[in-house]
Amino acid sequence: MNRYLIALGSNQRHPRFGPPAAILRAALAAIAERGITLEAASRIIRSRPLGPSLGEYANGAAVVESDLAPLDMLDLLQDVEAAFSRKRQGQRWRSRTLDLDIVLWSGGFWADDRLIIPHREFRARGFVVHPGAQIAADWRDPVTNLSLKHLSTRLTRRPAPPR
Ligand code: ATP
Ligand code: MG
Ligand code: MG
Repeated sequence: MNRYLIALGSNQRHPRFGPPAAILRAALAAIAERGITLEAASRIIRSRPLGPSLGEYANGAAVVESDLAPLDMLDLLQDVEAAFSRKRQGQRWRSRTLDLDIVLWSGGFWADDRLIIPHREFRARGFVVHPGAQIAADWRDPVTNLSLKHLSTRLTRRPAPPR
């Protein structure tokens, strides 16, 4: 069995599912419908739009268990993204209906053209680390050997004053 920590994000309404938080709940249901065992889901974090034209953001994390190997799990997550009509135009950072990333894997490291685990940017992203720490506090990042709880505390701590 493989266990994965998945990061979920949305910052666009969906015509059928509604606002971002509802999209994330529907995405978890869609993942479970495809035979993945949902072990834990974090609360959904919402953040307000920064400008008048930008939509509300929602983020969350889930621990899932499956016999799918990493690339098959990525395929499945990309299928679910497509089912929520996310447009993939080769650009990152776009406004999107649904983003599903693999953050950690019970097998440790993975790196090829399509997939890098641990997710390269996750340690700096509070919207990934904090929900992750809620549901998998003791899971250690194999790169830094720090637990999610530790990474979360480290992100919240104010920087040390200049010496
Ligand atoms: P970021 O990775 O900075 O969060 P993003 O999630 O917006 O950016 P996407 O457009 O969703 O980026 O994905 C771009 C490509 O990243 C995917 O097609 C996928 O092959 C690749 N990728 C590499 N590592 C991962 C991972 N750990 N989880 C999901 N996708 C990954
Ligand atoms: Mg992402
Ligand atoms: Mg992604």
